Amino acid sequence: MDCTEVLKALKGVIGQSDKFVSLHEPTFAGNEWDYVKDCLDTGWVSSVGSYVDRFETMLAEYTGVKRAVAVVNGTAALHMCLLLAGVKAGDEVLLPTLTFVATANAISYCGAMPHFIDSEETTLGLDPHKLADYLCEIAELRSEECFNRKTGRRIKAVVPMHTYGHPVDLDPLLDVCERYKLVLIEDAAESLGSYYKGKHTGQWGKLSALSFNGNKVITTGGGGAILTNDEELGALAKHLTTTAKVPHKWEFKHDMVGYNYRLPNINAALGCAQLEQLPGFLRRKRTLAQNYQQALAAVDGVQFFAEPEQSKSNYWLNTLLLDDTCCEQRDELLEITNASGIMTRPTWTLMHKLPMFNDCPRMELSVAESFERRMINLPSSASLGADHG
Ligand SMILES: *Cc1c(COP(=O)(O)O)cnc(C)c1O
Repeated sequence: MDCTEVLKALKGVIGQSDKFVSLHEPTFAGNEWDYVKDCLDTGWVSSVGSYVDRFETMLAEYTGVKRAVAVVNGTAALHMCLLLAGVKAGDEVLLPTLTFVATANAISYCGAMPHFIDSEETTLGLDPHKLADYLCEIAELRSEECFNRKTGRRIKAVVPMHTYGHPVDLDPLLDVCERYKLVLIEDAAESLGSYYKGKHTGQWGKLSALSFNGNKVITTGGGGAILTNDEELGALAKHLTTTAKVPHKWEFKHDMVGYNYRLPNINAALGCAQLEQLPGFLRRKRTLAQNYQQALAAVDGVQFFAEPEQSKSNYWLNTLLLDDTCCEQRDELLEITNASGIMTRPTWTLMHKLPMFNDCPRMELSVAESFERRMINLPSSASLGADHG
């Protein structure tokens, strides 16, 4: 691999610019100012208000679920999904080792133990086939519940993550969940606007989590949402994330240990304006991904990661995979691109290598280990692509 050749290809896509090109920055080109000003003018900036309801309705419609509950961030959304799925202290929860730390942290908040699973070459996400073989070896069912025979702990749920917007192969994963009585919770923090077999991600799990952090496809400053098709769980999610207050004219009465996880109205106002622009963002991001793919096709030693066959990806973060033989040049490529004003980043350090998750159970993780050595993220803001809408 010739690093300067890769740099030339990237420059060809991004164009000449004196400004540092960041990995993902938001675009505010719609009703953001009007809606936020409306919050300020009316004084409805905080924990209740019409934009929260509107944002939740818009999200449910867009993703095709019965109920969306807006919360303060994606990590809080994951935490609530796990609690509502019945994850208890002492349980194990399966997740990919290649993920952002929030997935594993949320499991720990429940007093449960992350249990790390390998990734699949074709999706970058949790490998359902490898998981099936692994569970066959280590798991057993006792009265309709799954137990880890080695640790004795109950395995309650599995949390796949749609890496950089590319959907996990969900059908075979659903088969595994059915066979081993595991609850499916999707970490869809990166996949708003991504579809698996024509159905939006976040519709497949019993519960799913979205994030609207500043670097995601749309942003509310900070924010997240819980998605579910179970109306009762949806109502409980709203109750639990809004301090579990029993509705009353004046009394402050709470019937559970609740959480103050609700999204402020002023953030929801931003979210409404952003969601209106999402189809345009997705078109531009798709054009950008196609441009990268074309420009990099002729470059030796690297491969642009394209969406899996059965899916339509939002291309949240464009991803380059170095050939096995070139992975020792990863840091050199990172140096050259960043020094030239083009922000590139390696993937996350794998979860099982972090000190707090070092002792957690895990399977053989060779595909994720290979990804860690070979993966580089490219600038992916919607503003870098043309809108052919
Ligand atoms: C962004 C993200 C989250 C949630 O992040 P917040 O910053 O808490 O909104 C969770 N999981 C993954 C994989 C993410 O990328």
